[in-house]
Amino acid sequence: VDGAKDWSAIDRAVYVHSSTNLQQHLVDGPMVLTRGEGVRVFDGDGKAYIEAMSGLWCAGLGFSEKRLADAAYKQMTTLPYYHNFQGKTADVTIELAERLVALAPKPLTKIMFASSGSEANDTAIKLVWYYNNARGKPAKKKIISREQAYHGVTIAAGSLTRLKAIYDGFDLPIDRIRHVGCPHHYKLAQDGESEEQFATRLADELDAKIREEGPDTVAAFIAEPIMGAGGVIVPPATYFEKIQRVLKTHDVLLICDEVITGFGRIGTMFGAEKFGIAPDIMTLGKQMTSAYAPMSAILMRESIFESIAAESGKRGTFGHGYTYSGHPVSAAVALETLRIYEERDILGHVNRITPTFQSLLESYSNHPLVGEVRGEGLLAAVQLVQSKSPKKFFDTTAGLAKYLVARGHEHGVILRVLQNDAVAFAPPLISTEDDLKQIADLFGRALDDTLKVARERGLVN
Ligand code: PMP
Repeated sequence: VDGAKDWSAIDRAVYVHSSTNLQQHLVDGPMVLTRGEGVRVFDGDGKAYIEAMSGLWCAGLGFSEKRLADAAYKQMTTLPYYHNFQGKTADVTIELAERLVALAPKPLTKIMFASSGSEANDTAIKLVWYYNNARGKPAKKKIISREQAYHGVTIAAGSLTRLKAIYDGFDLPIDRIRHVGCPHHYKLAQDGESEEQFATRLADELDAKIREEGPDTVAAFIAEPIMGAGGVIVPPATYFEKIQRVLKTHDVLLICDEVITGFGRIGTMFGAEKFGIAPDIMTLGKQMTSAYAPMSAILMRESIFESIAAESGKRGTFGHGYTYSGHPVSAAVALETLRIYEERDILGHVNRITPTFQSLLESYSNHPLVGEVRGEGLLAAVQLVQSKSPKKFFDTTAGLAKYLVARGHEHGVILRVLQNDAVAFAPPLISTEDDLKQIADLFGRALDDTLKVARERGLVN
């Protein structure tokens, strides 16, 4: 287009991207998007991409929901900002707090706000530490997360995260953070080990870890109901039941990270409901505002609140919160998001289209490159394998999943690589069956392109 800016050159000149090989990026350049409509986004040349990832698992209501824009505008022209320090709050933020507590799993009765998932998880850790100080257990501070987990990138949340790309080179994890195994049966179970046996082994491992560290030093365990960025790992059916039994034995709190699974992604408002999880603390983000404004939240049990309230009474203040915690514009957008969920029965829609979505992806399970198709609701991953039997995974440097995702972009679908050897799907919750068919179809073309390259490189037969 005449007179159009060369965004690619400008980007390369000034922009440091997240989760990107910065050196390679100088060669490849950015993917610059200029517009969104429904479940599609468009680049400067007008090329449409169907979004199979809702951005970063968050634009649940798509990219052109006027009601959310109107709610933001209305709030911006009424009370565009107020903070929540020293007892002040915007009315709309209180309304949202009440609404979320009403929706949340029962034991959770109090809420705080932040702006990102990382901040929410950092806040959860600080709450746990403050709580154990309040309980007279100042040595009980270690937090356990799982291999492959993603809980954010700030110094504490980045320490919980066990993806090499996130901690490598950053001197993480910090002290007081420990890790146990990831519940991916297909990849990590021993030969002949059933899902049930695998779940028992992981719970035993957690129990042993807590005993080894000393239960008086372990404060909390953090987990997503389904690991998202770690690979869309759906745990064995009895995993959380067994894990929760171990945590109870040792008086260790459970932090449930629902940043991806919250707000209907897997067919229930929160993933905890689906997996029988009774969290002590729950963190939310992403789809809470359908990505139209940054916002995250931390919910806690009444007993945790009572202890920290008493402690803050003694100390004179509870010194935690952010400038933009409970931002009124984000709160207004979150409230409107929840109204839309109710009026349009978004959860009902997700549950109606889930069988189509999962079976469209399942139809690729006979493809030579596909070892496993896994997921729940509108969250899924396709696991690439070099060979199905005997099971052999690609070397992480083979770059085939990355190639597949790049081919997907060429064909007009936005996908995402996980763990270098799987492809993730998290389409907007408003997707139609036709949208899902298009996603599956374009993915299939990219998969065939990848098979061709894998064969040319002699990686598969
Ligand atoms: N928790 C989970 C489960 C996530 O997937 C993410 C982001 N992908 C985060 C926390 C961190 O959220 P944010 O990027 O908003 O800090």
